[in-house]
Amino acid sequence: MIKAQIRKLVVFATVLLALSFFACKQTSPPKAGNDSRLKVVTTIAPLYSFTKNIAGDSVILENLLPSGVGPHEYSLSPEDARKIADADILIKNGVGLEAWMNKLTDSADEIRGDSKKLILVDTSEGVDIIDNDPHIWLSLRNAVLQVKNIEAVLVKADPGNADSYKKNTADYISLLEDLDREIAESVATWEKKEFITFHSAFAYFAEDYGLEQSAVIEGSPEAQPSPAHIAEIINIIKESGTGVIFSEPNASHKIMDAIAGDLGLRVYSLDTLETGNLVSGWYISKMRANLKTLNMALGNK
Ligand SMILES: [Zn+2]
Repeated sequence: MIKAQIRKLVVFATVLLALSFFACKQTSPPKAGNDSRLKVVTTIAPLYSFTKNIAGDSVILENLLPSGVGPHEYSLSPEDARKIADADILIKNGVGLEAWMNKLTDSADEIRGDSKKLILVDTSEGVDIIDNDPHIWLSLRNAVLQVKNIEAVLVKADPGNADSYKKNTADYISLLEDLDREIAESVATWEKKEFITFHSAFAYFAEDYGLEQSAVIEGSPEAQPSPAHIAEIINIIKESGTGVIFSEPNASHKIMDAIAGDLGLRVYSLDTLETGNLVSGWYISKMRANLKTLNMALGNK
């Protein structure tokens, strides 16, 4: 009789344990209670990719924006608030991209009290900002600065892993610089240096290689283009003599398709890298894919 009761209790305890295990799995980040690694949160996929390359598994890394969600009209979820409140380091792009986060980062220190301050990294430090445009990561040269800003904070916050952060950063920057050179060599072979895009994201990229982002269909990511703006773009396209136009993934293409149809333009898709897979190799592979597209569109390759 007692044995049966004990057996029942054991079964009950096992079920409870299993339930709590699954509950933890669903609601907690990948960490164990005694994991002493730094908890680092990035806001957008390029920053996740940069940080993963520098830190590998030496930190617990999470990203705020889920795959498929862009940063321009984002609003924070309760899960984001939990991630920020738990984080040691929060890495943002800056240039106003994460305005939706300001309130929470201001209050994060209040939530924790004085015991542990949140280290907030603005990766745009040292970048020459063009017209308050936040899309700095689309320039590989800016990406190098962003990576260095992340490295500096990790080295200071986690000196025990400093050597590995420094080595990984040097290795990653050499890959970024290789791709930068590759793009510059490709651009040198293109006859046309003007391009027309869907949303104003490629100013920094254009600046690096002497390209001209001669028109932008969607004035701002939130606004629909007015008929007057569309008429103006059609004029710019006609004057430029370009035969191609660049759209982007996840955008509504109706207006662009209409303009392209009317003027007989080819439409190519350029990725703004605002959202994507949270893996270390993602940033470079997407920038390389954009180069391939540009080569097809502007280089006749
Ligand atoms: Zn954008």
